[in-house]
Amino acid sequence: MQKVSCGHEKNAFGAPLCVHLRSCREPWLKYVKWFVGSGLDTEFVCVTCAEEREKGISTEAAFVCEECFQYATTEVGDLVRTGGRPESRTLSEPFDRAVCETLIPNECKKIIDIAPIKHDSRSTWLLLGEDGGLWHLDAQNGASELVARTKVPSEVAGDAFAGHTLTTRLHATQDGVFAAVLNDYGRHGQVIDLRSGKTTLKLDGGDYHPETVPFSFAFATWRGQAVVIHRTAWNRLDVSDASTGGLLSDRRPTSYRNGEQRPEHYLDYFHGALFLSPDGAHIVDDGWVWHPVGIPVVWSVDRWLSENIWESEDGPTKRDVCARSYYWDHGIAWLDEGTVAIGGIGDDDTEMVDGARIFDITSTGTAGPKWRSDWSWAREISAFAGPAGKFFSDKQYLYSAGKDGLSRWDPKAGVRTGHIENSFPSRHHVWSGELVELSDGALLRWSTAEKVS
Ligand SMILES: [Zn+2]
Ligand SMILES: [Zn+2]
Repeated sequence: MQKVSCGHEKNAFGAPLCVHLRSCREPWLKYVKWFVGSGLDTEFVCVTCAEEREKGISTEAAFVCEECFQYATTEVGDLVRTGGRPESRTLSEPFDRAVCETLIPNECKKIIDIAPIKHDSRSTWLLLGEDGGLWHLDAQNGASELVARTKVPSEVAGDAFAGHTLTTRLHATQDGVFAAVLNDYGRHGQVIDLRSGKTTLKLDGGDYHPETVPFSFAFATWRGQAVVIHRTAWNRLDVSDASTGGLLSDRRPTSYRNGEQRPEHYLDYFHGALFLSPDGAHIVDDGWVWHPVGIPVVWSVDRWLSENIWESEDGPTKRDVCARSYYWDHGIAWLDEGTVAIGGIGDDDTEMVDGARIFDITSTGTAGPKWRSDWSWAREISAFAGPAGKFFSDKQYLYSAGKDGLSRWDPKAGVRTGHIENSFPSRHHVWSGELVELSDGALLRWSTAEKVS
């Protein structure tokens, strides 16, 4: 048996602790999660030790047993921040940094959002103008056409939350037949049939803290029909027919008032941004629960729409992915039909570092936090430091668009294989293989395809 520094005849547990944390017997000693620079390995050291290390003076840390570790880190220690740096690895691979600029035609005026449209493998887009104009643009030949006019939903912006404020957002179906114009961090929007220009569905996500999340919304295909998955209350998602607006998820109430009985399938969860898997079979909901804790959850769309209308509340395919205090609405991307990458490494926003955690949503992992141990959890496959900001994936690579620009990562090896400074794409055109940034009056297009030189 390995000797631990606490003197108990037990196995080493967790991460090494500084001598002050090891010997502390009274709350609270502020401590730091210190990344030692080898993978994601950490040590826990008191703030004084961390400050020494920041001056370049090395300080010692040693393992203790599980009981002493838990005591030090939860009963007398108070984790306040991170320090040091996790290892972020890069590998030199062929990578073309060329970004192609396509000017948006003057007739479109000011464009506020874009959405990809599938048209063979051409870079075709739906554009939303500040004045409500919806334009079709072929970015390869610059041809534009006004296809409909809509009213950008007006509403009073609530308080900014976590740096976000009311933002009008455009969604479109792959075939470009339907569009939705809605307010992220707000409650209103509409679905438009672009063939007739008519609004088929008015969206209302409810008035309970909509400022905390992008509007929960996704177009999906169900039995060959375009359907809309949308929030109708903070804790309720509904499914509607995109062409008629007809409700497909009719079910008993999911809310109750004081004095009323709590409904059987009551869900205590704030729905957030929705991410459909590439085949549309699963959905990730990037929402949160009080106090607040961000908990992305996943469930089967197939089962939801065909068998169990309560699947989004408490269906058997529902799984929590991970739990992070005060942390949601960061990078999420499906790497394939069963694997999802979640941005941010850590359990709390005070100890979060940039990185990606990779989860297999088809198998069950170790249970999450004790207070949610009755839920099923997805299995974490790996994690690596580096990726930040928005995530995209073409099944081979993970792309991240953070403050320092666009990066390409090999998610299996956990290494960065390419980088472009000052590139901040917001949309992925899956069929043309482009990541695109809407800049002032232009689309900045970067192709993910390997170019043969
Ligand atoms: Zn110390
Ligand atoms: Zn011990």
